[in-house]
Amino acid sequence: MVNIMKKRYFIGGAWPYANNSLHVGHLAALLPGDVIARFGRMNGWEVIYVSGSDTHGTPITERAKREKVTPASIAERYHKEFVADFNDMLFSYDLYTATYTDYHMNLVREYFKKIEEHGYLYETTEEQDYCESCGQFLSDREVEGRCPVCKKITRGDQCEFCMASFDSNALTEKRCRTCGSTPSRKKNKHLVFALSKFQKPIEEFSEKMAPNWRWNAVNETKKYLSQGLPDRVATRDLSWGIEVPKDGYESKRVYVWIEAVLGYMTAGTAVAEKKGIDFNEYMKQDGNLNAYYVHGKDNIPFHTVIFPALEMAINPEWALPTHIVSSEYINMKNEVTSEEEKMSKSVGNIITVRELADSFPADCVRFYMILNNPERRDTAFSKADLIQSCNKILSGGFGNFVNRNLSFIKKKFGGVVQKGNVDVEVQSHIRELYESMGKKYDAAELRSAAEDMVDLISYANKYYDEKKPWVQAKEEDLSAFWDTTATCLYMMVNMANLFAPIIPNGSAKLLEVLSIGEPKWSEATLPETFEIGEVPILYIRLEGQK
Ligand SMILES: [Zn+2]
Ligand SMILES: [Zn+2]
Repeated sequence: MVNIMKKRYFIGGAWPYANNSLHVGHLAALLPGDVIARFGRMNGWEVIYVSGSDTHGTPITERAKREKVTPASIAERYHKEFVADFNDMLFSYDLYTATYTDYHMNLVREYFKKIEEHGYLYETTEEQDYCESCGQFLSDREVEGRCPVCKKITRGDQCEFCMASFDSNALTEKRCRTCGSTPSRKKNKHLVFALSKFQKPIEEFSEKMAPNWRWNAVNETKKYLSQGLPDRVATRDLSWGIEVPKDGYESKRVYVWIEAVLGYMTAGTAVAEKKGIDFNEYMKQDGNLNAYYVHGKDNIPFHTVIFPALEMAINPEWALPTHIVSSEYINMKNEVTSEEEKMSKSVGNIITVRELADSFPADCVRFYMILNNPERRDTAFSKADLIQSCNKILSGGFGNFVNRNLSFIKKKFGGVVQKGNVDVEVQSHIRELYESMGKKYDAAELRSAAEDMVDLISYANKYYDEKKPWVQAKEEDLSAFWDTTATCLYMMVNMANLFAPIIPNGSAKLLEVLSIGEPKWSEATLPETFEIGEVPILYIRLEGQK
């Protein structure tokens, strides 16, 4: 039985939509979740870190139609790709699943019934476009016609040319986008989620949580709430998706906006089950639970308003989001002009996660992305900067510190470390970093934690340069040399701990050569004498640009 009274981290990474490859922007937004999860586990806390692929909805069905394949095959193709991307970037999800799994679909149906039982779903009947030849109701995206403003042929309820928005009924010369025939108007019923009932509770909760949320989340949420929460249609006419658990709704599916965010709870339940914990107990807010939701800024209202409202509608005992880790955007730095550009297909400057994974060591990508994370403002990505930060800081700084210490001991003393005393000043500096960096990881202030890494790396190298152990080693009395060495090795093993959430591979390699097991979030000490293993090259210098 797991002790759920200890500190707990529930971490939900946003569910990427399975219709396009993951790119640098996804990585920048999602990586903080993994860093926090690793930090939590190093402390021995009960961590549940989940995500999955969002696989339902019309963009996938429309694409399937175009490619003449099933929606499932598109979803599976991208889901597989995402899994490989996340693995190669060392994401340590407890579960990365997909919304097309039976587990998710069954549990969402249960949640949906709960929402109805608790009185937050009601039925409406409205006239809607219906295509006789396709035999189905048409959503806004599935109808096209002449824009009432600019008179161009466009689709849906917003003109793609003049950006005017209107009721799709205002289009003239309407036709079905699939078959081209003229739709008729027919009465259609739907279930509606009474989001408006949550205006007050969401206002109160978001105000209370504001100190822990990113500023963009606080602002966006205020803006969203100030417009007044509208009720939202919860079902739609589609065959691809989760069946609605209600008689008379056989041809409809649960709207994606409901079921995708509920993936946090279905995946969380699956992990808890495996760990032998009661998920509902785990999610009770007893003051020991941090609930992080990690995503890009375009997803904020879904996590600060809609998801918490659904939680309250299903199980009011579930903890609401305590930490909203919502990134700003990452732009691309033009390698020639150094100017920042928005990432876009038409400019052709999108860099996929696959491309990064195939070109660079995962630690280098992770370190650069965290140091350069768009936490408070947009930042710019460039491969040249990534290479430079890896070469200068990881290879030239951290790797070099490790290498010159260990190689020297290996060469001069056959790798056998003698007793020495750790410098007390260095020791108190390291102890202080466990405190201060720990607070930053916990608060999702990861850029600042990465900056502490950079500082510690240069602090360690400076220490080595000032002590000049290669000179001390020539003295008759070697005690000064062994004191310096003990201090450097002490820094090294603790760097491996302090850096592990961001650069897990290098950290693990270093701990192995020092014969220490898993990284832990507590001061590590080495035995008085021991023999070091094979000296590793932690980070090879990356060559030029590819
Ligand atoms: Zn128009
Ligand atoms: Zn049609």
